[in-house]
Amino acid sequence: MRSVNNQTMGEAPPTETTVNNYIAGQICPPASKGYLPIINPSTSLQIGQVALSSPQDVNTAVSAAQTAFPSWSSLTVKARAAYMLKFHALVRENAQQLAQLIVLENGKNITEALADVAKGNETVEYACSLPQLMQGKIDRVSGQVTCQDRRDALGVVASIVPFNFPFMVPFWTLPIALVTGNCIVLKPSEKVPLTMYKVIELFEKAGFPKGVINMVNGTKDCVQALIDHPNVKAVTFVGSSPVAKIVSDRCHSLNKRCTALGGAKNHLIALPDCDVEGTAQDVVVSYAGCAGQRCMAASVLLIVGDKEGAVQKALLDKVIEKAASIKAGTAAGQMGPVIDSQSMTKILSYIEQSEKDGAKILLDGRVWMEEMEGNKGNFIGPTVILHSNKTDKAMCEEIFGPVLSVYNVSTWQEAIEIENSNPFGNAAAVYTSNGGHAEWFMARVRASMLGVNIGIPVPREPFSFGGLYGTRSKYGDMDITGDGAIEFFTNRIKITSKWPKPTVPEYVMGEQEGA
Ligand code: NAD
Repeated sequence: MRSVNNQTMGEAPPTETTVNNYIAGQICPPASKGYLPIINPSTSLQIGQVALSSPQDVNTAVSAAQTAFPSWSSLTVKARAAYMLKFHALVRENAQQLAQLIVLENGKNITEALADVAKGNETVEYACSLPQLMQGKIDRVSGQVTCQDRRDALGVVASIVPFNFPFMVPFWTLPIALVTGNCIVLKPSEKVPLTMYKVIELFEKAGFPKGVINMVNGTKDCVQALIDHPNVKAVTFVGSSPVAKIVSDRCHSLNKRCTALGGAKNHLIALPDCDVEGTAQDVVVSYAGCAGQRCMAASVLLIVGDKEGAVQKALLDKVIEKAASIKAGTAAGQMGPVIDSQSMTKILSYIEQSEKDGAKILLDGRVWMEEMEGNKGNFIGPTVILHSNKTDKAMCEEIFGPVLSVYNVSTWQEAIEIENSNPFGNAAAVYTSNGGHAEWFMARVRASMLGVNIGIPVPREPFSFGGLYGTRSKYGDMDITGDGAIEFFTNRIKITSKWPKPTVPEYVMGEQEGA
């Protein structure tokens, strides 16, 4: 197979890097011959181009997966897990190179990029345990009647992913979908396709049979064709809420299984008895890490007042001090750019609107644009806004950038009220040194992933990841990882059997007794 990214570690790939599709074990150009540019967000320079696939390409990819399905699904779970085990080792060997690609196309700093790879590989590890975890049940339910339940793969499944974790998010789906016996068509984000293109080489080295894993690149048309394809039985989607809803509605109208994770607006609630230094550190890591482009990032800090407001002041001062010390760049500890100029414009508009709403910009990330004049990357520094109105737009909507909205509240109830009235319900955390206070909040917060003294409460395997039903953070069925995913990617086949009691021939009994 042709080498996808043959640059040495740390070097930018040549500008002519062309990301094509991967179908039935072959790299192939899109039928339309159309491509989109791939842009490095740190420089705004083009670093390659990515295929714009049409329904025709999707058809070819789904057919390849459908052809591979009978033999892949008839392997034992153990045999499929063995491929994943090989792949897991290859990811570890190539982690640095994958991380460099993430830095290049997504703009994370190198530590965040390595974490992106390591976290994705944890789901691979989990999938290697599926021989133990996905066993069915068997029991005699009455007389001669036995019930058995078996997990069968669904067939061809599709996965559509966002730009913000080029490795980890595709690997929320791939390992469990594959080891449970499905074949897959992945649609990477058109903004960051290089990482998964490199991963193709690792799939090949791990020896996955042709057609088991396919990749089509592109945008909306390609996604619609995937969802609508009659042989695609289930779809996982991760991305913004409006698109998650479109995908989920369409899948359900076609009677397909779908998990569609959407956006977020996560709240951190600091109580007067929190450890100010530790809380401030955590708040900054949560809101400014990955330039705020994490669905688990904090975006609102609610500080519950003490009598004199001393803790509110101390905490806010510390947050600003720590955030202000962050430097622009993609080396360890620095903060990279946001993904593109549209994202930059959107973030700036929230800061400007907050000013108009009468909020105070306590730390202004726009200074980076002046300080870095001449740099064409999408750099905007950490920003802290103190609101006096809890209905300000920046307090309520997903910004997806390094912006923290702070609002002082006087009671625990008010903090809960603000958090619970947000339409996303993805994650929330409380900071306190009192276990009883933490339990009070954990019992009342309406969000799916809760933290106590932890600002990015991502549940790790074997726990499932996913937002809250009935909110804008999650549409569709089940969680995307953990045992929710085993359920998602399989049909439970129930077999009820009845055999007559055997009449054991006497001569056999005789022989046995005599033996
Ligand atoms: P996006 O919704 O713009 O794109 C996600 C995917 O959908 C991409 O592959 C894109 O090509 C495709 N797409 C875009 N528009 C489409 C349309 N109209 N029809 C069909 N497909 C379409 O999201 P993004 O900007 O890549 O990612 C950022 C968003 O993802 C944020 O809102 C963030 O909160 C969310 N996100 C959520 C989670 C989670 O677990 N809940 C995790 C990561 C990111």
